[in-house]
Amino acid sequence: MFLPALPNSLSQTIQNFGFENITKIYLKYEERWWREDEYGFQLVWSRDSSILPGEATWCKEMTGFDIMPSNYGNVLLGWVGSESSKIIETISEDQIAADCTKVLRKFLNRNVPMPKEVFRTQWHSNPYVRGSYSFSSDRCDESCSKPSDLLQPVIAKCAELDLEIPIVMLAGEAAHDSHFSTTHGAYETGETQAARILQVLKQQQPQIWSKY
Ligand SMILES: Cc1cc2nc3c(=O)[nH]c(=O)nc-3n(C[C@H](O)[C@H](O)[C@H](O)COP(=O)(O)OP(=O)(O)OC[C@H]3O[C@@H](n4cnc5c(N)ncnc54)[C@H](O)[C@@H]3O)c2cc1C
Repeated sequence: MFLPALPNSLSQTIQNFGFENITKIYLKYEERWWREDEYGFQLVWSRDSSILPGEATWCKEMTGFDIMPSNYGNVLLGWVGSESSKIIETISEDQIAADCTKVLRKFLNRNVPMPKEVFRTQWHSNPYVRGSYSFSSDRCDESCSKPSDLLQPVIAKCAELDLEIPIVMLAGEAAHDSHFSTTHGAYETGETQAARILQVLKQQQPQIWSKY
């Protein structure tokens, strides 16, 4: 997407990282049908767990439901990973409600009601997001790429200033060596890059200010 292209080392590092999807499903009920002492329902599927007649295959990649605190209303939050997380971005909310209800009834053996509202995230389909989590893949291990390689600034000569300055600096959750895939990791990489920009500005200030 960059014109001119990023340096090969940087674009190769980006290619090496993985980026995959997870989908959250919010089920809102008329009333709380779970017990006060329950916090959620984690589903343990065996390899040969049968799919009930009419049950969608994506359900087997559903890992469980958390019970949201009561100030959110009567809401269960379901988690789906892997390829199924992409499938459920494309099916109707009514279908998701029916499928989740089948799964809950199957695992809990209770008369679980249908939710009155369903909302699911669609990060994979969102052109500005395209997924949920970046991760260090086998390709990173093979090529010895580490997250902080992404912090390497792209330096270019600014003809107007006759200076070499960083013109592209990446930051974000993929670029932190130890706190990758977290908000605080993303934040710290932003701080690291901001500190570098300040350093350049301090060093080059006289030349930069004399031009503007
Ligand atoms: C389901 C889920 C649960 C999570 N739970 C936790 C948790 O409990 N604790 C935790 O620490 N972390 C958690 N994370 C991870 C955390 O949310 C991310 O690591 C963090 O938000 C990443 O920040 P970022 O700035 O790197 O990227 P983002 O927050 O993704 O910011 C990138 C921004 O760039 C925008 N963008 C993309 N392309 C363009 C473009 N071409 N032009 C303009 N804008 C563009 C995007 O819309 C987005 O707003 C969770 C993530 C997910 C998906």
